[in-house]
Amino acid sequence: MTVLVVGGGIGGLATALGLARAGHRVTVLEAAAVFEEIGAGIQVGPNGFRMLDALGVGPAVRSRAVHVDELRLRCGVSGSLIASLSLGSGFQERFGTYAVVHRNDVLTPLLDACQDNEFVDLRVSSGVESYTQDSSGVVAVLRSGNVVRGSALIGADGLRSAVRRQLVGDGDPPVSGHTTFRAVIPAHEVPRALKDNVVTLWAGPRFHVVWYVIAGGRYVNLVATTDNGATEPMTGKPVEHAEVMRHFTPLCEDATRIMELADEWRAWVLCDRAPITSWQDSRVVLLGDAAHPVLQYAAQGACQALEDAVCLSSVFDPRDVAGSFARYASLRMERTARVHHASRLMGREVYHPAGSAAAARDAMFASWTVDDLHERLEWLYG
Ligand SMILES: Cc1cc2nc3c(=O)[nH]c(=O)nc-3n(C[C@H](O)[C@H](O)[C@H](O)COP(=O)(O)OP(=O)(O)OC[C@H]3O[C@@H](n4cnc5c(N)ncnc54)[C@H](O)[C@@H]3O)c2cc1C
Repeated sequence: MTVLVVGGGIGGLATALGLARAGHRVTVLEAAAVFEEIGAGIQVGPNGFRMLDALGVGPAVRSRAVHVDELRLRCGVSGSLIASLSLGSGFQERFGTYAVVHRNDVLTPLLDACQDNEFVDLRVSSGVESYTQDSSGVVAVLRSGNVVRGSALIGADGLRSAVRRQLVGDGDPPVSGHTTFRAVIPAHEVPRALKDNVVTLWAGPRFHVVWYVIAGGRYVNLVATTDNGATEPMTGKPVEHAEVMRHFTPLCEDATRIMELADEWRAWVLCDRAPITSWQDSRVVLLGDAAHPVLQYAAQGACQALEDAVCLSSVFDPRDVAGSFARYASLRMERTARVHHASRLMGREVYHPAGSAAAARDAMFASWTVDDLHERLEWLYG
């Protein structure tokens, strides 16, 4: 009664670990030759850490994380402070840990725990092309032509999921028109005055720039996003520094100084998909970005994949695979759809507005107390 998990990213490995800890045998089929995360930093909110704790890897991730003091929203043009949220004791007592982590520092503890668990069989270079199923089980058909049999199949194969292509048939994800440029800067190159232990977001007209320290303080992670109407998909393409900078103008002095320190940039054209209600085909179900890819503006894609993993592994019943997948989907759909809408809204109303819309945003934040902010975050982090 082996469960097949297609994809060994954060969602897939978390699911494999959750199922194995509940006593189920799991085979992970990963297309790449190694288990590895591409890209540098990730913000993990309290809801994500609670899931890592449930999977037994919270302490390992916390020990590799940078525990930032504050989230700051600044005007990208003037540099002035619009809002800040302390992540200190008041926040932690109410919600728990909020930290920034190198992506591999989330993946590696999950991978180590899977490797240590005799119920998990990890296979690389095992890209899945399609699946078949009948009343007794499922068959994953690999790109190599080989097949792997199991009792159930979970598609955790990301934004361009092959499982989703077959299950939902809704084609490639539509491009959002937003381009993200990412770079990593050695922290020793950053002037001390710009190295506060915070996540800073500079919001400008149709663009925003986020930066924070990762990897035990050794690097600064820089993510600069523009709503430039891009129409073609792009994944990690190297781009020239001058090409990046032309999208971010007018930009305040501090943000410009940090952007100027980066020389190796890569570009992604962002995609999301509108929420759907068909995640399941009998013994096959979708999870993480394969089910509900979101824009990164609420920093929740990986956190939602972790929530999916814990939810699915706690309801999974090998005697009623289809029933337990239906229960998982019904428990997760509304929340992930809400995160999807919140992410789009954050981009439109908080990160990218200009003129009077930006002034309205500033006035809104100015009128909120810390308790007001906490109340508004309760549904997500609480
Ligand atoms: C710029 C940016 C910033 C982000 N910042 C944050 C953040 O701060 N916080 C946060 O929570 N989230 C963030 N996210 C979102 C987060 O990265 C994703 O939501 C998360 O990684 C999804 O995990 P996943 O396991 O579902 O998919 P993936 O991470 O995409 O993993 C899918 C895995 O499946 C494998 N695979 C693909 N196809 C096949 C196949 N056919 N057969 C077998 N294997 C296959 C892939 O090689 C990969 O290993 C950000 C995203 C972006 C783009």
